[in-house]
Parts: sequence; C-alpha cells; structure tokens
Amino acid sequence: RKNLIHITTGSSALDELLGGGIETSSITEVFGEFRSGKTQLAHTLCVTAQLPKSVNGAEGRVAYIDTENCFRPERIVEIAERFELDPEEVLDNILVARAYTSEHQRQILQIELLVHIAAKMVEETFGLLIVDSATALFRVDYSGRGELSERQQKLNRFMSQLLKLSEQFNLAVFITNQVMSTPDGSAGMFVVDPKKPVGGHVIAHASTTRIMLRKGRGEQRVAKIYDSPMLAENEATFEVSSGGVID
Ligand code: ATP
Ligand code: MG
Repeated sequence: RKNLIHITTGSSALDELLGGGIETSSITEVFGEFRSGKTQLAHTLCVTAQLPKSVNGAEGRVAYIDTENCFRPERIVEIAERFELDPEEVLDNILVARAYTSEHQRQILQIELLVHIAAKMVEETFGLLIVDSATALFRVDYSGRGELSERQQKLNRFMSQLLKLSEQFNLAVFITNQVMSTPDGSAGMFVVDPKKPVGGHVIAHASTTRIMLRKGRGEQRVAKIYDSPMLAENEATFEVSSGGVID
C-alpha cells in the first residue's frame, strides 16, 4: 500500500472518530440534511489538505467539483487565516470546476481534472478531490419514473472513476451526499429522513468511510460513523465557525 495520509478535519474529536482524519486512496462520504455542515467541512479540508504533513495535511493541491454553486472563496480566505496560511496561495492551489449536468460532472472528472491530477510535476501534486454534491445532478437528470436504474448505473460509473483516481494518485476523495426525502401527505410538503443517504448500494459500495451528520445545538454538529467495516459506530461533536470546522 502507498503512503496513506490522514488529512485533519479541523476538529480533533472528528479526526479521532475517523482514525486521524480523511484518508487518502479512499472515498469518504458525508451525508446529512441541508445546513448540516457538509459544504463547510469540504471548505475546511480545502485548506487543511495544503498543510504540511507534520501537522496532518497532505501538502497537496485540491480539486473541487462544485455542482451547486456553493464554493465560496471568501470562506477559504477566513479558514486559511485561521491556519496561518497565505490566503492567496491557498486559493491558487484549489482548482474549482463547476458542473452543470451529471454528464458534465463525469466529463470534468474524466477529462479536465485528470490532466491536472496526472501531471507529474511536483508542484502539481494533488492531495484531495472534493465532489460537492456527488449525487444532486444525478437526481435532477434522472428524476422521472422508470429512470432509477439508469441513474444508478451512471452514478456507479462515476463512483468507480472516483475510486480509481483516488487509488491511482493516492488522493483523498471527499464527497457530499443528500438524504432522502419523502412526501409527508400534505400538499407539496416533504420530510427528510436524516438516516437515509441518496444513491443506495452504489454509494455504499464505493465509499470506504461514511459520515452521517446532524445538527446539534447552535453551531454544533454531530458526526456518526455509518455502516463501517473498520470503524466503530461512535459519534463526535464539532462546531462550524468562521475559521471552519473546530472542536
Ligand atoms: P446543503 O445540503 O444545503 O448543501 P450543507 O450540509 O452543505 O447543506 P453547510 O453549507 O455546510 O450545509 O452549512 C451551513 C451552516 O454552516 C450554516 O447554517 C451555519 O450554521 C454554518 N456556517 C456557515 N458559514 C459560517 C460562518 N462563517 N461562521 C459560522 N458558521 C457558519
Ligand atoms: Mg452544501
């Protein structure tokens, strides 16, 4: 096995839950309802992945596939300041690609990002690849009756490519995922099931580590390991701050 690295999340409690942080050569999935902190965690990792290895970074660049127009450079600046990194440099090291359809999302991975990630120059070395969200565009593009099996097939192809990239280039892959919502009977109303990630067995199969997030009091968030063969199903509490994820 390659030199596996764990990238810190910014919270020592969450790091401990994950056995040290987000691991390279595998896919870590985070799922939870809206505002549960998935995107904030992704932004924090964009910065911590660039930290020296001695302080649980990956000393690498970051690729961010943004499907919901949620990438915020100004958040990166604040988080970089917390870690005493040069915000401009940190931003320069994040390659953001906006995806508009599920097919576009696949092409970005397969064509645009692959060129950069496969570049052998040391200054081009990537440590982290984020897909926020991995499933949202697939839900939109295959929302009709009878399209579920095609959606799952396409999603499976995307996840396989992700996994291959992560292993080939010793990348930490971090994906966000929504939870299922079902009509609650009243007109147009839906209830989310915070324990049911979208994508079923396709996502379950490809993700090595799955984190279920829920909101706690105030800015507190609770992370729980979901369905892991290796990690105990413990919980960790962290907070979202202006400097990103903290204890
Ligand atoms: P969605 O499913 O809608 O994408 P999400 O899980 O990605 O949701 P985030 O965008 O990560 O949710 O979390 C948003 C929450 O993060 C806000 O409601 C707020 O509580 C917290 N947050 C965002 N920015 C800051 C900040 N600068 N300082 C403190 N907390 C913040
Ligand atoms: Mg989000």
